[in-house]
Amino acid sequence: MYPKTLQLASMQLPYFRTPEFSEIMIENEKMFKASIKAKKNSKTVFLTASGSGAMEATVINCFDKTDKILVINGGSFGKRFVDICKIHKLPYDELKLKFGEELTKEHLEKYNGHLYSGLFVNLHETSTGQLYDIRIISEFCRKNNIYLVVDAISAYLSDEIDFDWDGIDALIVSSQKALALSPGLSVVEISERLYQNKVLGIETASLYFDFKEHIRNMERGQTPFTPAVGVLLELKERLTEIEENGVEVIRNEIREWAVKFRDELRKEGFQIPNYAMSNALTPVLLEPNAKEMYEQLKDKYDIIVTPSGGALEKVLIRVGHLGNVKWEDYEMLLNAMKHIRENL
Ligand SMILES: *Cc1c(COP(=O)(O)O)cnc(C)c1O
Repeated sequence: MYPKTLQLASMQLPYFRTPEFSEIMIENEKMFKASIKAKKNSKTVFLTASGSGAMEATVINCFDKTDKILVINGGSFGKRFVDICKIHKLPYDELKLKFGEELTKEHLEKYNGHLYSGLFVNLHETSTGQLYDIRIISEFCRKNNIYLVVDAISAYLSDEIDFDWDGIDALIVSSQKALALSPGLSVVEISERLYQNKVLGIETASLYFDFKEHIRNMERGQTPFTPAVGVLLELKERLTEIEENGVEVIRNEIREWAVKFRDELRKEGFQIPNYAMSNALTPVLLEPNAKEMYEQLKDKYDIIVTPSGGALEKVLIRVGHLGNVKWEDYEMLLNAMKHIRENL
């Protein structure tokens, strides 16, 4: 996290049913829209929930049992969308990708003309590091008249996103990834057509997550229930900084860490996947020692990288490029990884 965020996080929180706080919310909305290039009349929902809460809320506010959903499932976050469909009994099909398999036009072409009403995708499938090509997905959705739901939780600020140009109908972002804020806040952007054609007509079986109430309240810069006041103040500071610098500058910095770290890894003989990757993180292939590498980094060097779960537990670790990281951090990590490798 950045020093300015940490400083804000140590402060007293204000009461929020005030015109002053409403103004902060309206500013947040304006700056958030600018950061994803949403220039049309889309709606912004601020939720006090982690990313999965926002994924579930988006699904139940935009779709019901009369819909037919196509889920791109290339890892544990794709599976989360599948689980949400199951729990809420939404008819769905799964486009399942094996580990290492890249999503192509041909995969999608098989699903042409199947009368889907929604497509769910995690733009960056964070469990593997694969970045899907938004252009082929959005072209498929346009051609088939499908509402496009994009979990951009780990792609936001790391990879290119253009809400209007890519024809995105719902975009989900969370506070704890590239924004590097405290967890607990998620933001969902809903296109005008999804709002008018779907959201308004759906009887959401949830009090807390009813987007209609959230959107109505946001007209005056408020939320129906107590929001994550502190995280919203952290967000205001971060978005102001992002607006001043330009989203591209932030993204280039993240990309620079990714490119430089990957070059160094290759030089040192470490393996990384050859599918298209997000700038957010670098997966390092260490089969069968990935778990061991994670544990030794943590216990012997006090360095935390992200371990994998399930079938990938022994296969890869993930090294993040988000937030307040410096090249020294990567040098330290590379040295530790080399030492550990010698004794594996
Ligand atoms: C981190 C992340 C989430 C959210 O997980 P939570 O733990 O619920 O915040 C969802 N989708 C993707 C792609 C993510 O990277």
